[in-house]
Amino acid sequence: MILEKIVCNFMGTNCYLFGDSNSKEIAIIDPGGNPVMINNRINSRDYKPKCIILTHGHPDHTGAANLVRREWDIPIFHHPKESPLIDFRDTKSIKEPDVVKIGSEELHVLDTPGHSPGGICLASYDNKILFTGDTLFRSSIGRTDLGGGSFDRLMNSIKTKIMRNPKISDDFKIYPGHMDESTIQTEKKANMYRRDFL
Ligand SMILES: [Zn+2]
Ligand SMILES: [Zn+2]
Repeated sequence: MILEKIVCNFMGTNCYLFGDSNSKEIAIIDPGGNPVMINNRINSRDYKPKCIILTHGHPDHTGAANLVRREWDIPIFHHPKESPLIDFRDTKSIKEPDVVKIGSEELHVLDTPGHSPGGICLASYDNKILFTGDTLFRSSIGRTDLGGGSFDRLMNSIKTKIMRNPKISDDFKIYPGHMDESTIQTEKKANMYRRDFL
């Protein structure tokens, strides 16, 4: 498995490169800024980008998507409900229960609205990894005061799609859209909102 994090803008957005270490095929998750830095990293590792996946449509997660796409001539995937937030065209729709294959690796789409109407998380069940975008952070959760946000919807998403998902065990690592990694177990014990989502 390939997994790299690039903090790509002044908002501290985490762009992730995830893929298959044999074929070097990768998905680029949330290229939120600094396309030169992202493309240089890909070139320096000799990776073969297959697609861009946006966890949601906020500009701090999408800012470099169009420029990175042009460099590699690859599709951009996002949930259809995020379309109003995205100011470039010719993107492709993705939603639960879609699965994106990257070489021998798989990313399973989970619909987790609440931070935004079409927010998604991406699960690699084989590697026990969950990319949570701005849905779930280390010790916290995404804002719900932006357009289309809903605290109740976000709590329901975290509860039903993550914490009570029979395929997501406590030893899963989470890779959020901002700040550091964590585990499901840590968030069940220490997240400020655990009483609302457990
Ligand atoms: Zn956001
Ligand atoms: Zn964000």
